[in-house]
Amino acid sequence: MRPSPEFAELFGRPPVVEADAPGRVNLIGEHTDYNGGFVLPIAIPQRTRVQLATRDDDQARLFSSDFAADGVREFTIGSEAQTGEWLDYPQGVLVALRDAGLRPGGFDARVDSDVPLGSGLSSSAAFEVALLRALRAAFALPIDDLRVARLGQRAENGFVGAQVGIMDPLAASLADEQSALFIDTRTLDYRRVPLPRQVELAVLSSGIAHAHADGDYNARRYECEQACALLGVGELRDLGLDDLARIAALPEPLDRRARHVVTENARVLAAVDAMRGGDVDQLGKLFYESHASMRDDYEVSIPEIDFLVDLARAEADVLGARLTGGGFGGSVVLLARRGRAGAAARAVAAAYNRRSGHQAAVLVPIGLSPGRRG
Ligand code: ADP
Ligand code: MG
Repeated sequence: MRPSPEFAELFGRPPVVEADAPGRVNLIGEHTDYNGGFVLPIAIPQRTRVQLATRDDDQARLFSSDFAADGVREFTIGSEAQTGEWLDYPQGVLVALRDAGLRPGGFDARVDSDVPLGSGLSSSAAFEVALLRALRAAFALPIDDLRVARLGQRAENGFVGAQVGIMDPLAASLADEQSALFIDTRTLDYRRVPLPRQVELAVLSSGIAHAHADGDYNARRYECEQACALLGVGELRDLGLDDLARIAALPEPLDRRARHVVTENARVLAAVDAMRGGDVDQLGKLFYESHASMRDDYEVSIPEIDFLVDLARAEADVLGARLTGGGFGGSVVLLARRGRAGAAARAVAAAYNRRSGHQAAVLVPIGLSPGRRG
């Protein structure tokens, strides 16, 4: 494939600022966010970069190497109009800024990313946060990193029309590869939690994207609401392990759905303790328990994902593995001994590819399998 044009080739001058932001993977805490619970994302090595130069008018002109065939796309700041395409993300960012009383001028921007798009590693938040950082630098916008995350979420909820929580933009804005971000999605309090030095992570995609994932996701949200109504609480977050007996009395499958959320919240807290204490065996055990809960109680796994987790479990250097993201396909995250994640992930992918009829890809660590651009 032809290399995509550089900034100067596109816009006839050099960029003034450059900014970037990472993708993320959620370590533990799944389907807890819309229940007011806890999540624990960490940044991955892949990043989205934005180079930008200011203009004297109100035009925003953008090029993305992921959509090189589109060439330079353009909109007028103040007259944003939905396209249903990637341009809605930067348009949404400008609308969110304006709603917050911030009015950057026109700009030319080149976007380049090695975060895989649409693979659950949050390329959308990496894009929003990188663009906001570039605009902040170019126009001296008075926004801190928390504000950047909230503006990113707002852009995606409002203009793009995707109901995402605060996790993705907050991780892109505040996490790094060595610091996970413990987020209380009810209060939006967050704390950095260092990844113990003895371990490293791998992420493997199953090669399966479920076509009806949205419908299944909405069904789970509805089941949680029903469970809350029957239990007389506002959110499942209001319940703890002491309430498991009450939860067991709910009609099937609401009992299992609520049990997943309540035990998963407890596992996130336990994972934070294990990370702080450097207890990597305990952390790995929590990964496996989380996976079993998603498989049996929440029923958002699929046999291929379970197979990946089982293959990972057979690797001596793997301490834990679980489905990460909403489920019905997607990826698994592996916790491995330091220096061993790449080899373990490759071994798991090779066995999976031989026996499942699907193609796994090692997304993290990078550089192990052919990239998506081939
Ligand atoms: P995820 O965030 O899990 O990767 P999403 O569906 O939330 O998946 O976001 C993917 C969409 O975000 C892409 O289809 C595209 O519209 C937009 N996007 C993400 N990264 C870029 C990029 N580098 N350039 C242009 N658009 C991007
Ligand atoms: Mg996204």
